[in-house]
Amino acid sequence: MPHFVDPSPAGVCIFCRIVQGEIPSAKVYEDALTIAFMDLGQVNPGHVLVATKRHAANIFEITDEESAAVMQTARKVALAAKIAFEPAGLTLLQANGVEGGQTVAHFHLHVVPRHADDGVSFSWPRKEPGGAVLEGYALQLRNAMLSESVPVAA
Ligand SMILES: [Zn+2]
Repeated sequence: MPHFVDPSPAGVCIFCRIVQGEIPSAKVYEDALTIAFMDLGQVNPGHVLVATKRHAANIFEITDEESAAVMQTARKVALAAKIAFEPAGLTLLQANGVEGGQTVAHFHLHVVPRHADDGVSFSWPRKEPGGAVLEGYALQLRNAMLSESVPVAA
């Protein structure tokens, strides 16, 4: 079964308008499927957003081809940021849904050069439910992977 493709028309959100050049952006890179531009917020110098050119709200609506293209573009940007800004580390962040921390409902991934004591923090509460619970979660996911909406391996 084909992966779900969002049928929303282009031009409906701020990133679509950036893709179309209707809103200016400091563009870093683009190819057939992706565009990379500077995040207005700039957590650190070199903070870039990599977005799909096609409007898709989140990871559930992009295609396998788009997901691969986004990661390839993110790697290009990361390698360039390493040269240009010499960060001590680098974080990739991709959020889906308001509860997931997504603020623009057009699929994008943050490439964030990182430095010691740069003020960025993540709240990551470890809950450690134990091996039996983890086996149960893994079984749930293995069963869910049989769903028609999960692409099979190429
Ligand atoms: Zn859009």
